[in-house]
Amino acid sequence: MVVTSIDFGKSGKQQGFLQVPYSHNLGGWANVFIPITVVGQGHGPTVLILAGNHGDEYQGQIAIMKLARELDPERVKGRIILIPSLNFPAAHAATRLSPLDGMNMNRAFPGQPEGPVTSQIAHFLTTVLFPLADTVIDIHSGGRSMEFVPCSTMHLVADRAQRARMLAAMLAWNADFAFLYADIAGTGLLPVEAENQGKLVVTTEMGGGEAVPAEVHRITQNGLRNVLIHLGAIEGREHTRASLGKPPTILTQALHREDYLLAPESGIFEIGLDLGSKVKRGQTVGFIHHLERPDRAPEPLVAQSAGYLITMRAPCLTQQGDCVAVIAQPVSARALRGN
Ligand code: CA
Repeated sequence: MVVTSIDFGKSGKQQGFLQVPYSHNLGGWANVFIPITVVGQGHGPTVLILAGNHGDEYQGQIAIMKLARELDPERVKGRIILIPSLNFPAAHAATRLSPLDGMNMNRAFPGQPEGPVTSQIAHFLTTVLFPLADTVIDIHSGGRSMEFVPCSTMHLVADRAQRARMLAAMLAWNADFAFLYADIAGTGLLPVEAENQGKLVVTTEMGGGEAVPAEVHRITQNGLRNVLIHLGAIEGREHTRASLGKPPTILTQALHREDYLLAPESGIFEIGLDLGSKVKRGQTVGFIHHLERPDRAPEPLVAQSAGYLITMRAPCLTQQGDCVAVIAQPVSARALRGN
């Protein structure tokens, strides 16, 4: 059902839209227009770069818009497909979920060809764009709900060769931290569908909240370019942490449920530690203050594992069951490669 004027086999730079049929009260034959840019030659490796999977995550949307304008087709080796705002209705509304159908793009895969708008977009990626791509880059941040230490991320895929390539690309982002995460909140994720199709998948959590510091934009934009150089998709010299005069990236993982601290009751959340700092098991990470009973002592949130505070809840007002902090354990690259 999704159509586009883009010819994916054509050389040069094309700017167009994915058009998704959407009928509403004041528009019977309306379409949702999702901007897309394709740069390069119609042969060679293909990199698909996405952001705005969640509409309230802006770091990647800005990085992709800038890259799409700047890329010279003559300097692209292969083909780069750029979609800055994948869940365009959500990006337009500054929401995590689509305002059209209430769906979470990152739980909509593999999608349905005649489903709601979000599901149709997912289906187009699953059946058209992923098969074209060798590499899929999906740039996330914590959105309005979480604040992350800016980090590149990945899943621990079973295939060792795929895992090694993903690990190398994740580290090429040159962030201070890299993070392996577990899917504690459901199925239907975009990266999982791409991984299942054998793609090299690179993801990130580039900070969060709505006030994005300039440094986080720099990490996002420089990292994206360096990963593209690392992949051989654009010309340029690859930087490493060492060549930038920085210590190695700290590799971390949070694969167990107890690493994800959930609010035991509603109230006002106070973080007690700095993001990225080391946490001991049993250490108090923060507090939930009782809005209605300030005379009661606040409820402490105690780390169930040791590691680094990799992310915290962004809004202070918290409902029972909200994730307020994640503790990620250090892990070696050798252990991740499985040798
Ligand atoms: Ca996200």
